[in-house]
Amino acid sequence: MSKPATTPFLPYARQSITDGDVQAVIDVLRSDWLTTGPGVPTFERALAQAVDAKEAVACANGTAALHLALTALDVEPGSVAVVPAITFVATANAARLVGMEVVFADVDARTGLMTPESFEDALRRAAGKPVRVVLPVDLAGQTPAKVEIAAIATRRGITVVDDSAHAVGSAYEADGAWHPVGSARHAAMASFSFHAVKNITTGEGGAVCTNDGTLAARLRLLRNHGLTRDAADYVTDEGRNSAPSWYYELVEPAFNYRLTDFQCALGVHQLQRLPEMRTRRAALADRYDQALRHMAPVVRTPVRVPNCRPCWHLYAVHIDFAAAGRSRQRVVDIMRAHGVGTQVHYIPVYRHPYYQRHGAPTRLPGAEAYYAGTLSLPMFASMRDEDCDRAVAALARALSA
Ligand SMILES: *Cc1c(COP(=O)(O)O)cnc(C)c1O
Repeated sequence: MSKPATTPFLPYARQSITDGDVQAVIDVLRSDWLTTGPGVPTFERALAQAVDAKEAVACANGTAALHLALTALDVEPGSVAVVPAITFVATANAARLVGMEVVFADVDARTGLMTPESFEDALRRAAGKPVRVVLPVDLAGQTPAKVEIAAIATRRGITVVDDSAHAVGSAYEADGAWHPVGSARHAAMASFSFHAVKNITTGEGGAVCTNDGTLAARLRLLRNHGLTRDAADYVTDEGRNSAPSWYYELVEPAFNYRLTDFQCALGVHQLQRLPEMRTRRAALADRYDQALRHMAPVVRTPVRVPNCRPCWHLYAVHIDFAAAGRSRQRVVDIMRAHGVGTQVHYIPVYRHPYYQRHGAPTRLPGAEAYYAGTLSLPMFASMRDEDCDRAVAALARALSA
């Protein structure tokens, strides 16, 4: 497939950066504070407000957010985290980094989301080991059954930490009200990523949202080496009686997971644009749904989860490659030759050799079926209608070539 593309390559995902975004960063670069300045709490307040959480703690990336969240829970090494099999490796890795065992939950074969039933099944497979945490993933921007999953977790004394890396801007309905993803109504904490391909970006970046002030304080401590400058926290006589101006105390050794002020400024500006970017992503999803309808049943459009208003992070179709008589690699290659990028989200995490060694070997039918058919088509806020049509045409050609 050497036919050169005549139009610029259309990637599967791309950041959307305006002149206003650029100016916000430049303004900070010319200010006194590149990091640990006033821009950090400004971004944290804006994010907390946008997702209707009491607290947002900004950090270096989404993996750091998950690591901070699990570290803040003081889980016993050897206890279990339940992680859906279809996610980015970071969800499971964060649990391993705090010494937890990972038990993978199966997912719905059409949505890729963990379900209350697959969560219960994972709990049975944990076989008596103490399960401390579950990490539901808002795959592609859609939400799993948060109320039911939280109810199961609460009954078992399991803490819910949402991996909402895909879903800033999404909302779900529960108990007659709409809740923004990140509001942590049905979780102790929710983590975000602001990597360049995510719904909003700070280049690299992340955050943990929570309604628990004690947890938020701990997350801020852990993000900054475990150092406190808050006199109320001091335990030594020097600190308590006459703390000098340079004084600080080490509470516990921790990380430097800070986000810079210029990244936070970009984040504030991107957040202002989030409603408009969500609308654009929704319009693209609708356009894809229409344009792909005639390719059913070989190509099936994403199943829309009820009670969810997604900010579509991915537009992942399900393709019956056997019926099409084309391998996925061939479809990917032909589309690429026509200038259209695609991606596969994700290889079931238990398939990685590391997780084959660390954990009971698993093959989960829902995750295998999801993985076998999934292909993410281009989806990003700055995509034009023509780009969407070009992706559909490239897919049609790849399947009929
Ligand atoms: C991107 C992503 C992460 C990790 O975020 P980074 O900012 O890249 O560290 C975690 N979980 C999921 C589901 C992701 O997509």
